[in-house]
Amino acid sequence: MIIRKKFRFEGAHIVRNCTSQRCRENIHGHSYEVEVFLKSDHLDNGFMVMDFVLLNHVAEFIHSFDHAFTLWDNEAPEVKDSIYRINARVAEIPVSPSAEGYALLFFFVMDRIISTAKLVNGEQNVKLHAVRVHETQSGYAESSAEDLAMVQFSMSDILFNEGITKEWKDKSWWNLIAKVNNQ
Ligand SMILES: [Zn+2]
Repeated sequence: MIIRKKFRFEGAHIVRNCTSQRCRENIHGHSYEVEVFLKSDHLDNGFMVMDFVLLNHVAEFIHSFDHAFTLWDNEAPEVKDSIYRINARVAEIPVSPSAEGYALLFFFVMDRIISTAKLVNGEQNVKLHAVRVHETQSGYAESSAEDLAMVQFSMSDILFNEGITKEWKDKSWWNLIAKVNNQ
């Protein structure tokens, strides 16, 4: 059975090397919707795959990108410097922040969050099935386990600056998933 939880964030980026000149040359933003799909062949004591309450770290992770600039770590040093100078909240990531890049990164991280989630009510075999990132109302990118073959980065390549992490209610989940060796 598959369940889905939807999250939102307001994010800014530049998508270098993309076909659209507006996207590759301008800082701009989108109202993102992120759909997280979980799958299990077992229902817990409450006849649920997993209570959405257990997705609090997924929520914290997604909200780390809210009202933040998502910076590709491949940007020129002078661009990086100016972004860090003018933004309190910067997420520096090892993929270009296209919808596809986000979907791949989100699956990579959320897979770790789900695999380390503390199960409390008889949940079993809960797996992250897919992550769907909507950048606009008409288009989305979806990532699933087979896409992990495209991953050429590790957890240590994902950097949230202090403007973001100081708002985390709890930092232990990030340290925990950084140690997971799924790859
Ligand atoms: Zn864009």
